[in-house]
Amino acid sequence: MPVNAENYQHLKEELGEKVTLVAVSKTKPVENILELYNLGHRDFGENYVQELVDKEAVLPKDIRWHFIGTLQSNKVKKIAPFVHLIHGVDNIPLLKKINKHGNKWNRVIDCLLQVHIADEETKHGFYENEIEEIIKQLPNGEFSNIKISGLMGMSTLTDNLDKIRYEFNYLQDLYKKNSMFAPANSPFTILSMGMSGDYKIALEEGSNMVRIGSLIFGQRNNHPV
Ligand SMILES: *Cc1c(COP(=O)(O)O)cnc(C)c1O
Repeated sequence: MPVNAENYQHLKEELGEKVTLVAVSKTKPVENILELYNLGHRDFGENYVQELVDKEAVLPKDIRWHFIGTLQSNKVKKIAPFVHLIHGVDNIPLLKKINKHGNKWNRVIDCLLQVHIADEETKHGFYENEIEEIIKQLPNGEFSNIKISGLMGMSTLTDNLDKIRYEFNYLQDLYKKNSMFAPANSPFTILSMGMSGDYKIALEEGSNMVRIGSLIFGQRNNHPV
């Protein structure tokens, strides 16, 4: 199945200059990614470490790879040399591990803290009080090879649009609040929320980075998320 170029162009117009579109290419072949690349797109999101590593190896080097899945600490080293932004950081040992591998590669790795906003226990993330603690701890030098650039969240899978809006609105509030604590050398600039089904609500609630897969690449086969 080719890329839905019409949906893509429409999205680009709808999002404008200020919102980054991360095209979520998980489970999709490199040919599809190249198709979008040839339309000028550079930000791609993947959920599985090995799949990301395999794709990165054969695709153009100016692609900005976003890791949006659940990252296991023991796999950080595989993506540390090249990853552009890690969206779903949800525990402190992981943050330390990313910092360690950033140091090895002499990089500062950009990260977003995932916030638990949904009902589902399967969705990971920090709670409000934990976020503030991490942000305030940052300047003390322990984490010099990571940069926390903002927050990421996933809403509950539901048809209740009010509930989705409530969750995104809560995340926006947290984003604004924590922006004030963020150190000057690591300002909060990214609020990653919104997928194919709920990105319009996310935009209304202040998202500036959406992660969109099926709307661009078509439905995925039932591959675990
Ligand atoms: C798969 C995935 C997406 C994209 O989902 P679509 O509904 O296909 O747009 C976005 N964010 C995360 C974290 C994902 O796992």
